[in-house]
Amino acid sequence: MATRPLVSLVIPLYNEEECFEALEQALDGFIEAQQESWRFEVVLVDDGSTDATWTMVRSYAARRSYVRGVSFSRNFGHQNALFEGYRQARGEAIVCLDGDLQDPLEVVTRMLRAWEGGAEVVFAIRTRRHGETWFKRWTAYAFYRLLAFMADTDAPLDSGDFRLLDRRALNVLLRMPERHRYIRGMVGWIGFKRATVSYERQRRVAGKTKFSLRKMLAFGVDGLLSFSTFPLRLTFLFSVLGSLPFLLYAGRAFVLQALGVREMAPGWMSLLLAIVTFGSLILMAIGLVGEYVGRIYDTVKQRPDVIVRESCGLDAVRSRQVVGAATMHDMDADLVTEPQSEGPAVYFE
Ligand code: UDP
Ligand code: MG
Repeated sequence: MATRPLVSLVIPLYNEEECFEALEQALDGFIEAQQESWRFEVVLVDDGSTDATWTMVRSYAARRSYVRGVSFSRNFGHQNALFEGYRQARGEAIVCLDGDLQDPLEVVTRMLRAWEGGAEVVFAIRTRRHGETWFKRWTAYAFYRLLAFMADTDAPLDSGDFRLLDRRALNVLLRMPERHRYIRGMVGWIGFKRATVSYERQRRVAGKTKFSLRKMLAFGVDGLLSFSTFPLRLTFLFSVLGSLPFLLYAGRAFVLQALGVREMAPGWMSLLLAIVTFGSLILMAIGLVGEYVGRIYDTVKQRPDVIVRESCGLDAVRSRQVVGAATMHDMDADLVTEPQSEGPAVYFE
């Protein structure tokens, strides 16, 4: 029994008080049923909820020895919450899932079997999505295909953040210092031995999606820009395509000139067109370069990506106080002493 591997279940939560009881019951039932084969820890990351989520996490952690919770000082977004959960996890296999039970726990069992069969990254592919709007389904469908076409990462299509990572694969992720993380892209990029399981995505047990249109758009842009310089190349393509008509036009003018034919129109229309077209192309190119420069700026600033305000439960001492005047360098040194935990989170408690 002592050799049963430890499995971490990482769950980001943002205002999920309506789902929490159902989640708790599902987790308890699952862990109880699977304890013959695996040991479990549950890492709950409260992403700055403004409802009772954190209170509920604390009370759950007080009742169950396998629960660890951390709470952020504000909402840092799903990808950052997930990544902090990854930092906190201790397991040999790490599975992350939604707090709203859209990703069924039965699928976790299948992922774990695949892991025991030697896979280091197990993707869960959604064959159907229940209870999601057609807008969400279609934008997701189109986005994954656009990204696959443009990006230099090869995550399977239609796999979300519901996945299993072996400890080795996760440690590689934890050592990637980039910002604006698009974790599915990073997981696609690192490689390792892969397996997939397919499942039907369930509807939420309660509450509404915590992904506003704004968050979805920001997420999509992160995905495209973090994994591709294709948009930069696209501006080049556009400027070539844009200048083509003018080259043709110039050729025509040249020929007419040579034949001694006088142009009817004085030609200021074409001039205006040229100015407007190239002006907007240049603006677009600058804006696009600006997007990348902004990301470089965010990266060099080295601001912590999340701030942990409080933690509870299993090994909560891991979150320690970082003295106010500590430089980033000091904090790094501090964090290196912790196994498998590296990187720019500030623990403040
Ligand atoms: N979430 C989060 N921070 C956010 C938005 C969402 O931690 O800023 C959590 C949310 O509570 C849920 C998971 O991330 O557990 C996925 O979000 P949601 O279910 O709302 O997204 P959807 O399944 O609709 O894509
Ligand atoms: Mg969900």
